[in-house]
Amino acid sequence: MKKEDTEMAAIEKPDMFCYQCSQTAGGIGCTIKGVCGKEATVARLQDNLLFAIKGISAYLYHARELGYTDPEVDAFIERGFFSTLTNVNFDPQEFLNLAVQAGEMNIKTMQLLKKAHIETFGEPTPTQVKTGTVKGHSILVTGHDLHALHKLLQQVEGTDVFVYTHSEMLPAHGYPGLRKYKNLAGNLGRAWFDQRQLFAKYPMAILGTSNCFLIPREEYKDRMFATGPVYLPGVKHIDGYDYSEVIAKARALPELPDASGEYVLTTGFSTSVLLSHAAKIKQLVLDGKIKRFFLVGGCDAPLKKSDYYREFVQKVPKDTVVLTLACGKYRFNDLDLGNIEGIPRLIDLGQCNDAIVALEVAQALAGLFGVGVNDPCPSHWW
Ligand code: SF4
Repeated sequence: MKKEDTEMAAIEKPDMFCYQCSQTAGGIGCTIKGVCGKEATVARLQDNLLFAIKGISAYLYHARELGYTDPEVDAFIERGFFSTLTNVNFDPQEFLNLAVQAGEMNIKTMQLLKKAHIETFGEPTPTQVKTGTVKGHSILVTGHDLHALHKLLQQVEGTDVFVYTHSEMLPAHGYPGLRKYKNLAGNLGRAWFDQRQLFAKYPMAILGTSNCFLIPREEYKDRMFATGPVYLPGVKHIDGYDYSEVIAKARALPELPDASGEYVLTTGFSTSVLLSHAAKIKQLVLDGKIKRFFLVGGCDAPLKKSDYYREFVQKVPKDTVVLTLACGKYRFNDLDLGNIEGIPRLIDLGQCNDAIVALEVAQALAGLFGVGVNDPCPSHWW
């Protein structure tokens, strides 16, 4: 290949892209190999580590808000960031080690956040959530931050302002310490990518508490607020947890009508709830009445091909139990799959960070049959 062709290929599909120091190629980015000698594999492993740390940081942030920290995770984040600093570490094996540690730290952080949520708001239990509206002024809360939602619910208690959850905030309804608030009226919309249409449709104040935002449209940005790490152009940021401005905005907007939703959602299946049925689940598996467990979850995307997940859940045999979590559930969580002798066939485990519940359930299922989590067992899973 000629030199120009190699350069063009590197631009169109670079092996790496590093621009972390002043020596970067052409003042733009090293795309084949670093001017410093860094190999593409190392650059990619550094990128991978940074993505992992970003995810861990989000969950750790929410745990810290509730007063829960872990010095081991903090120390890992410092070391991980430092390892990606310019020309500190050129060893791919060490970055692989850090990637494995990042997975371990992610599990620790999800366990920490789960503990923080349960000790603050109680253990989630299965809860039906309405998807319509009730007559009154309203605030829609989106994102993942249960602490921010709790602060808002405390501040609207006893008023005529209702609070609705959106997308990843749906599992909040499963926690006794949150659903006890009468102003928590229901859930509106579906996964994150419906936000521009949804926020424009309802004349309500909107509070954004964490990730998964799109730059807001003009038509609703004056009634939108951001809190915590969220900053959006043209949107008022609330420092701390005093949401009186959000509540005042909701009161100044027209009331929503009484309108029932087309379906009711169910959320709140914690590890404890599921394990309380362990003996029954084991017997149903041994009797051949439950033959498969699938986990269908994760982040959704506005792609036609993602319809596959709804079709999949619709077509799985009736002896199948589907576990789900994160906003990917909105592809199919309106479906009524019924139950197998009282065990629901569609089980919402919670937010993306509740992937830890899925891991615990998988380990418990494996333990029921005396096998490892990756071993064959009397039933198929995942
Ligand atoms: Fe290029 Fe190395 Fe600088 Fe990265 S650290 S921009 S690979 S010279």
